[in-house]
Amino acid sequence: MQGFFETPIEFLKGVGPQKAALLNKELDIFTYGDLIQHYPFRYEDRTRFYHIREVDASMPYIQLKGKIRHLETVGPPRKRRLVVYFQDETGEMELVWFKGVDWILKKLQPGVEYVVFGRPTAFGRKINMAHPEIEVLTSFNVQSGYLQPVYSTTEKLKKKYLDSKALGKIIKTLLDMASPRLRETLPPSTLDEYRLISKQQAVRQIHLPDNHEWLQKARFRLKFEELFYVQLRLLKLKITRIDKFKGMVFDSADLLNTFYHEHLPFELTGAQKKVIREIYRDMRSSQQMNRLLQGDVGSGKTIVAFICMLLAVGSGTQAALMAPTEILAIQHYNGLREYAQKMGLRIALLTGSTKAGERKIIHSYLKSGELHILVGTHALIEEKVQFQKLGLAIVDEQHRFGVAQRSKLWQKNKDLYPHVLVMTATPIPRTLAMTLYGDLDISTIDELPAGRKPIKTVHRYDSHRLKVNGFLKEQISEGRQVYVVYPLIEESEKLDLKHLMDGYESICRAFPEMPVSIVHGKMKADAKDYEMNRFVKGETKVMVATTVIEVGVNVPNASVMVIENAERFGLAQLHQLRGRVGRGADQSYCLLLTNYKLSKEARVRIETMVRTNNGFEIADTDLKLRGPGDLMGTQQSGVLDLLIADLGKDGEILQSARQAAQAVLTHDPELSQPRNENIKVQVEAMRKTMVNWSRIS
Ligand code: ADP
Ligand code: MG
Repeated sequence: MQGFFETPIEFLKGVGPQKAALLNKELDIFTYGDLIQHYPFRYEDRTRFYHIREVDASMPYIQLKGKIRHLETVGPPRKRRLVVYFQDETGEMELVWFKGVDWILKKLQPGVEYVVFGRPTAFGRKINMAHPEIEVLTSFNVQSGYLQPVYSTTEKLKKKYLDSKALGKIIKTLLDMASPRLRETLPPSTLDEYRLISKQQAVRQIHLPDNHEWLQKARFRLKFEELFYVQLRLLKLKITRIDKFKGMVFDSADLLNTFYHEHLPFELTGAQKKVIREIYRDMRSSQQMNRLLQGDVGSGKTIVAFICMLLAVGSGTQAALMAPTEILAIQHYNGLREYAQKMGLRIALLTGSTKAGERKIIHSYLKSGELHILVGTHALIEEKVQFQKLGLAIVDEQHRFGVAQRSKLWQKNKDLYPHVLVMTATPIPRTLAMTLYGDLDISTIDELPAGRKPIKTVHRYDSHRLKVNGFLKEQISEGRQVYVVYPLIEESEKLDLKHLMDGYESICRAFPEMPVSIVHGKMKADAKDYEMNRFVKGETKVMVATTVIEVGVNVPNASVMVIENAERFGLAQLHQLRGRVGRGADQSYCLLLTNYKLSKEARVRIETMVRTNNGFEIADTDLKLRGPGDLMGTQQSGVLDLLIADLGKDGEILQSARQAAQAVLTHDPELSQPRNENIKVQVEAMRKTMVNWSRIS
């Protein structure tokens, strides 16, 4: 049976097949349900009439009531404009039309009372309004006191007379029919507790708000509902997982104690200790761990990973770490090997370029259990790679791997899934993390090791290049190394590559006696590695590169990062790039080069970078600037297709909604109690229509 809200819109009065086809195509509106969810994107304030005397040019759209004293057309025939002298009891204002003059002229008469709606602008010392809406005062529009909804529409729709007003009209027709059929989707107790208005009220008020207060309530209610169901789904996934998947219990801390007392190279930060405790608690419980470990670049995730491995290995299992690129895998391997050797543990590296003979040995040692730790790229998840008993799987730089790849790693131990730790150096604002990784537990390293010198970041215009080069020369002569990074964006790849090569040549010219490395994505892997290695070893002093060096590369002696065309990078990327320096004892610098012309947003990005080194603060700004859909790695997540809520702004509502969803599930995980009937019905309905929900059984 087809429900009312699945009715195709062509059956709605005032729509018909032609307009319906256009609405399908232009706005993705197919059914009554779609149309009723086409919420206004803003409202025009018709809550009051302003007096001409109080109007100033800073006001948004306002409404006036008055009469025309006089009207005339002025200017030469081709540039003729209509000027209307409009009065109320407090003053006079000019209304001006440059287009459609004859048509407007016919409509207007002095002496009649009109309602005018428009945006005041300053014209010299006078205030006027260009192309306002003007209507004869009627018993309808004399009642001010409403907010007029404005709907998004398109040029094509407007041509077929489906402008915002017309859309408003058909939506109102639908609302009158639909209101009684709108089902409440939240339980009464939740409505009570969070003071939410009913679904019926909310939908009506979002389209036709009585006043600002009601609009606010409607928005709050609808955002809450939307976020509630996102969180409910994620929390349900988590519960299902915890129920289904028992975890290995690791309880031998012997290795750990030895490491702690004999080999720990430095005092751990408080934040490192805190996350290690959280991870240990998981691995000792009998439930499978699925935890996200986030920490800014340089916060010391490697040693945390190693210490967690010790618990797994000490309890008779193996540990694996998977990185997204070969360079990174090698670096992890080098870092971990140092610790592992001190502890007498066997560790190996497995990547696409591991030789067949070596590969064979690794496979057999893995199988026999003689190998304790395996580090590698996605070569790790190949069928042939089999562990004796994998206890802990660590995945670095999560967003470069798909969820599917992550789960392949789980399958490496079919008896009992290994504990899984996902590490990321891309700080994610809390609200976003709660949504993107809402099914994972989250640990955060929010503190850098003591004694780090904050990186000094400055903004320089291209025209100061000579000075910049002088600075680089100075740093290099003191023994430092330098990165120079160019953007390489797909759409303009050819041009970008040319810029990169030009840049490389001009650097070579500026530093004729200095060996310079160059690395970009178009190079063959071995050529890339060769150049990288020369730089790592210090044989070259300057590395000219595209963003291929963005992730994880660790050259402590490199202390200067120059970013060319910095205005073309996103904040997250700028921060990642900057994180390549500041790893040694020396003062590090980040130079952001741009040309003079900067968009407002680009300026905010650059200023944010100059102001702070804090990854979370940067991520927050990024979220506000771009919205969640564009943040790194979140594009395909689907969970972010929100209708009305905005993760950048609605963090508090999200918190409450998550809390509410958690409370419901704690008392009634199966949603079988009568009080949660509303939720159960809604989940059923969503499961039928949304991919995201179909995974929960
Ligand atoms: P990231 O979180 O970016 O992976 P790393 O694990 O590579 O960071 O650590 C960055 C550097 O900081 C390494 O050289 C590491 O040895 C060092 N380090 C990590 N933790 C501490 C600490 N508690 N005190 C001092 N140095 C530390
Ligand atoms: Mg790292």
